[in-house]
Amino acid sequence: MYFFIIIVLLFSRAAIAGNVDYDKELDTIEQSLKTDIGYAIEKIDIALSSESLLTSPQHSRLYMLLGTKNLYLGHFLEADKALDKALTYDPLGEELTNIYLLKTTANIGLSNYKKAFALLEDNLSRIDSYQDQSIKIMSYIRLMNVYLQLDAYEEMLRIAQLALSLNQGKDPKSECFSMLYHSVAHLKLTHFDQAEALFTDTQLYCKNHGFTLIEIMSIKGKANVLFDKGLYAEAEPFYLEALERYQKFQFQIEINEIQSYLSSIYFHLGDYQQADMFAQLVNALPNKPSNMQVKKRVSEILSLIAGKRGQFDKAYQYQVVASALGQQLIDEQKIKENAYQMARFDSVEKNRENTSLIQDHELLMKQKDLFMKEKSSSIMFSTLLVGLSVGLLLLLISAWMQRNQFMKQAQRDGLTGIFNRRTGQEMAENEFIQAQMLGESFSVLLMDLDLFKNINDQYGHATGDWVLKKVTHVIGDMLKPTHIFTRMGGEEFAIFMPKQTEDIAVEFAEQIRNAIANINTRFSGHDFTVTVSCGVSSVDKDDLSLDPLIRRADLALYKAKHNGRNCVICYNDTIK
Ligand code: GH3
Ligand code: MG
Ligand code: MG
Repeated sequence: MYFFIIIVLLFSRAAIAGNVDYDKELDTIEQSLKTDIGYAIEKIDIALSSESLLTSPQHSRLYMLLGTKNLYLGHFLEADKALDKALTYDPLGEELTNIYLLKTTANIGLSNYKKAFALLEDNLSRIDSYQDQSIKIMSYIRLMNVYLQLDAYEEMLRIAQLALSLNQGKDPKSECFSMLYHSVAHLKLTHFDQAEALFTDTQLYCKNHGFTLIEIMSIKGKANVLFDKGLYAEAEPFYLEALERYQKFQFQIEINEIQSYLSSIYFHLGDYQQADMFAQLVNALPNKPSNMQVKKRVSEILSLIAGKRGQFDKAYQYQVVASALGQQLIDEQKIKENAYQMARFDSVEKNRENTSLIQDHELLMKQKDLFMKEKSSSIMFSTLLVGLSVGLLLLLISAWMQRNQFMKQAQRDGLTGIFNRRTGQEMAENEFIQAQMLGESFSVLLMDLDLFKNINDQYGHATGDWVLKKVTHVIGDMLKPTHIFTRMGGEEFAIFMPKQTEDIAVEFAEQIRNAIANINTRFSGHDFTVTVSCGVSSVDKDDLSLDPLIRRADLALYKAKHNGRNCVICYNDTIK
């Protein structure tokens, strides 16, 4: 873990323009993070205390350095928070990529792989969109570091090759770093011969261009290749050289790792005393996740040494520690791998979906094109025709609908919505003629609201209107489909009843009278009673039109009023 952070730290950036003094301060912090973390912490605290004097880019850089410091100390949560804070100052370009990649590192440190991958994906698309070659290359270098942390060596190799081909040796720093990652990728993929040659090239190139730490890392890389090949004696001098040079920089993480390898080497070379000495140095390190790997390595060596010395209890104890650490490392590895495979699957799926969508779209466009070319003239003609006829049809439909609307409006009474006198009577007349021809019965029911004038006078015209509408609703609910319900005028209504006998009409009139008398008028805002008087008449075989029928019903209605209102009178029963 820490090895990766160091690489990130080494790959530092140039100062940005702005307030020169603070930029210099920030440069110093960045520099001292690599060499003297204690001094860097002090400087960061000072800078944070005079925060108000910083510009936005300086702010974002300071919080990025604070995040880096926390990463270096293994305080991943604090690092993530500081980096979030850096993002609030709207950093741009390489700095933005850098912050996101540092955040990725923090989340890997927190074993929050899902988040780490989301950040990584996000960053990949951001990097791809950069126009500036050098920013693109630098971003790829940071990305390689993240892939290394995730043990995604194939991807790391691919990005390294991409960066190298983009850079073409133009920027020595980018070249140096890309060469190192390229070598490490081959080592991790166990391409030992290639890795060994590449580390040697990297060591030389970085030495010539003054990148000392990368030069040392290449020496250690070469030692790792030899160690992995089991060539312990050959690996020893390279490890010793790297150790000596790292000690000048006080890079404890790298020192610990080299010491653990040296312990293993001396054990294999039969120098148990030297092996024990290096193993004890590493074993004394605090139990931190970052020390797990090296402590596991030396626990195994210590167990083997104890075994050689006949101290089997001790050997067993070291073995238990080593396997416990190993299990933890395997678990973490598994989680990492699963997370990685899942994320990769997601992204491959996404790409596949996008590609197929694009292909579908292209196919569709081609088909369309072909179709248009082949049939352009006939299409134009038929389109014109279809367009014309559709337009015409729409025009006809709308005209017809409008006509219907007008007709409906002309047929209906404005207040109640039922047929007006002219329409109702016309419709009834047609029904009457049919009934006469077929010798069927036909009845008319005339209704007049009682003392309606009083309602208007007492409660106002609006209440009168309410009553008219209410009465219409009440009667409307009682009608059969054959009934022709008509407002004859004012508070006078008629129901023309084809095929209905007088008795049925009288019974129905009685039901209506009853229903109206029971109307609850409180919803009008007043409390009163509405009653209706009804006159009923039925067809006579001598009737030549509807008129005599209506006239007889009217006579019956008059009789009903005369009889004290709120009653039903049938012409034939009482008047004839
Ligand atoms: P009767 O029991 O003898 O029929 O008494 P009436 O008061 O109902 O008789 P009249 O014919 O004298 O009064 C009818 C009233 O109906 C007169 C008129 O102002 C009122 N009227 C007619 N059309 C409407 C209307 O659309 N809305 C309202 N609110 N009143 C109307
Ligand atoms: Mg009336
Ligand atoms: Mg009236």
